[in-house]
Amino acid sequence: MSKGRFGKYGGQYVPEIVMPVLTELEAAYEQYKRDPEFLAELRKYYVEYAGRPTLLYYAEKLTRHYGGAKIYLKREDLLHTGAHKINNALGQVLLAKRMGKKRVIAETGAGQHGVATATVAALFGMECKVFMGAVDMERQRLNVFRMKLLGAEVVPVTTGTSTLKDATSEAIRYWAAHIEDTHYIIGSAVGPHPYPTMVRDFQSVIGREIREQLKEETGGRLDYLIACVGGGSNAIGTFYEFRNDGSVKKLGVEAAGRGPAVGDNAQTLSNPASRPGVLHGASSYLAQDEDGQVIEVYSISAGLDYPGVGPEHAMFHDEGVVTYVGINDKEAIAAFQLLCREEGIIPAVESSHALAYLEKLMPKTKQEEVVVVTLSGRGDKDVQQVARVLGEEI
Ligand SMILES: *Cc1c(COP(=O)(O)O)cnc(C)c1O
Repeated sequence: MSKGRFGKYGGQYVPEIVMPVLTELEAAYEQYKRDPEFLAELRKYYVEYAGRPTLLYYAEKLTRHYGGAKIYLKREDLLHTGAHKINNALGQVLLAKRMGKKRVIAETGAGQHGVATATVAALFGMECKVFMGAVDMERQRLNVFRMKLLGAEVVPVTTGTSTLKDATSEAIRYWAAHIEDTHYIIGSAVGPHPYPTMVRDFQSVIGREIREQLKEETGGRLDYLIACVGGGSNAIGTFYEFRNDGSVKKLGVEAAGRGPAVGDNAQTLSNPASRPGVLHGASSYLAQDEDGQVIEVYSISAGLDYPGVGPEHAMFHDEGVVTYVGINDKEAIAAFQLLCREEGIIPAVESSHALAYLEKLMPKTKQEEVVVVTLSGRGDKDVQQVARVLGEEI
């Protein structure tokens, strides 16, 4: 099977019943991705609804703090709904509309992707069902209520461990039974072809804007790009434009959690113990035990807490196009606090993993060099959790 392959990775490992809808989706995407009207409409919503282009902000105080290369932040945290996920949700809902679907469904763990999906469903008047593990619903009551406010139905999933991977299985089952009128919005650059390609294309606006904005800021100079990696959508969106620029060092930051023991982190590419396998319809690197069972991974950040990674990252890892590294919970929290105090910006805990890598990188940089960190989201959602970690009662 060569379709939708990234080297050895990717593909379509799905039940037979889902194949026709993937084929339909692939055909529609191939058609609309070069349709000027579709692209113009997407651009209009990026600009008028989501708030693109996002700022490329020169973090002068943070730069002085480290005393090395100039640090710029790509401000995806300023987008509507507070993170990059809206770039993909808007693209997919517009495609679903074109395909004549009347309902969108999604799976969600922490609720962020569920909220982005419920948001675009409200905007385009589509029915929306979000599948969520019952355990996650209890842990994320605020996001469950947000989705309800936005008009979505949140479907509790009580099979297995009642968490994200069970919600994903349930969403696929529902999709297979309602193929005619339903589009499944996957939230990261994962899943069967054409999702990893499609999600990457919708998120690549991040890297294209960075290139454009740097022309004015630094005369185009760029030495390092840093982004955090959960499923890998904000990172692939950041790196893709620069994939052939060998002089730009690209760093994908995974969650090293509590430490290197199995189940204590969410590292798939920066972990020597992980191997290729198949999860959620595609082949990629996976966190698995010796018997090849996918393990439950851990990170302080719900958005990075995923045992797989997008197949294009697996290929970039093997080819050395991107270097993947780990940042632990403590380092991420320290970076979260540092950005608050140095720049007056409260970052998402996910994005704080990318920021924390500056501690390791900056001493090796020179003042004339340029670093861009993608700030994938804002930290309002994380404030309560950070307070708990820091031992504050709020
Ligand atoms: C969901 C999320 C992530 C992780 O998802 P990717 O697909 O790896 O980008 C990172 N940051 C924020 C703010 C998120 O909401």
